[in-house]
Amino acid sequence: MRELSGKTIRPKCKFYRECGGCQLQYLSYEDQLILKENQVNKLMGDICQVEEIIGTDNPFNYRNKAHYTFGRGYKNEIISGMYARNSHKIINIDECIIQNEKSDQIVQTIKFMMKSFKMEAYDEDRRTGFLRHVLIKNGVMTGEYLVVLVVADKVFPGKKNFVKALTNKHPEITSIVMNINNKKTSLILGDYETTIYGKGFIEDILFGKRFRISSKSFYQINPSQTEKLYRAAIDMADIGKDDRVIDAYSGIGTISIIAADYAREVIGVELNKDSVRNAVANAKANNVENVNFINQDAGDYMVTLAGKNENIDLVIMDPPREGSNESFLSSVVKLSPRKLVYISCNPETQNRDIRYLMKHGYEVKKIQPVDMFMQTDHVETIALLGRVD
Ligand code: SAH
Repeated sequence: MRELSGKTIRPKCKFYRECGGCQLQYLSYEDQLILKENQVNKLMGDICQVEEIIGTDNPFNYRNKAHYTFGRGYKNEIISGMYARNSHKIINIDECIIQNEKSDQIVQTIKFMMKSFKMEAYDEDRRTGFLRHVLIKNGVMTGEYLVVLVVADKVFPGKKNFVKALTNKHPEITSIVMNINNKKTSLILGDYETTIYGKGFIEDILFGKRFRISSKSFYQINPSQTEKLYRAAIDMADIGKDDRVIDAYSGIGTISIIAADYAREVIGVELNKDSVRNAVANAKANNVENVNFINQDAGDYMVTLAGKNENIDLVIMDPPREGSNESFLSSVVKLSPRKLVYISCNPETQNRDIRYLMKHGYEVKKIQPVDMFMQTDHVETIALLGRVD
């Protein structure tokens, strides 16, 4: 364990107390890193020595995905921002210290335009009004912006002029998608959506490869740290040219496509159909032929592979916060790959899953924390496991 400085600093964000989104702002960045590294050490330090956490030189304005909820304030004025922690009260936020600045500006423009377009903000309790959320994704390397307008009705009065006015003011917007969500739900996006401007997705570049990203597909929120994360994971995997690799929870295929340069074959498995559609297009656009994507639950797919006794050399897995499950892990044990690289955004569930694998013939060789979410208390970790022969 490393010692923190013992000092606190003044939080930079004026919404710090209300929002609760960036819990570690009261610490210097160096102390934030030590705190996160210690957190991983507390959980898994008994299994294996934890490497020094990989940090960043840019701990602010790093997010490439912004989500703003719209509603009405006390004076019935339109407000847009984030929900207060554990609540459905919207805090009116005009700038966010971890968000891309242009995305913040686009949201302010939309808020301003709503008046002249007589566009109502959605009211969750009364279920009236039109604009519910705005989601913005940007490609840091390409400069492209995708704006998703989440609305409560498929009839969008003045749509053409709204699109024209918004893109005139913000030429960086390369696409606008209208997503319809009229359900009583805490989910942001509804099932149905239509592209009302541009191609319906953005592209970004990682490791010199182009990746397309749609409104509903997952993409890491900070590309420069993502390159460090993937670099560390690929180095730990030490892929051989004859290896058959599974990339489970593969999203838009970033890891699969990067790993394919080193492997004989990569199979990506992912539940979200839009992500898989992006992944297939991404493999094609980057001329990668030794990768296949399966649109299925990762656990179910691994059970099928284990049933067929397929030969797998390496499993790379990167599940969501809830971690993996027993059908996935028990199938990994049956398939018995030589190595496993487990990337996680939640060390608690990763710790649980790793201890399962340790009981079933695997040992942990390395644990590498990476800071992907500066100012927040979230930490990413990569664990390398090897089969005990
Ligand atoms: N490796 C990717 C994505 C990681 S995020 C990257 O680095 O970008 C986790 C992914 O797991 C998401 O794309 C999510 O849609 C997917 N997912 C969630 N539950 C799943 C399941 N049961 N089976 C397969 N994929 C799942």
